[in-house]
Amino acid sequence: MCSVGGPVNLDIEELTWIKYQCNNCKKVYRSTAEKSVCPQCKSEKVNRLQDKSE
Ligand SMILES: [Zn+2]
Repeated sequence: MCSVGGPVNLDIEELTWIKYQCNNCKKVYRSTAEKSVCPQCKSEKVNRLQDKSE
C-alpha cells in the first residue's frame, strides 16, 4: 500500500499590520514586523501606534 500522505495543514498566519510613526521625520507607516525602521529616513526611533480599528 502506498501512502499518499495525510491532509496538508497549511499554517497561514494572518499578518498583523502594526502602525508606526517615526520620531525623526514623523512619517506614519505600517509594517508587519515587530521591530521596524522608518522606510523614509531609516531611523530606528519609531513609535508603535495603537490602531483602534477593531
Ligand atoms: Zn523617519
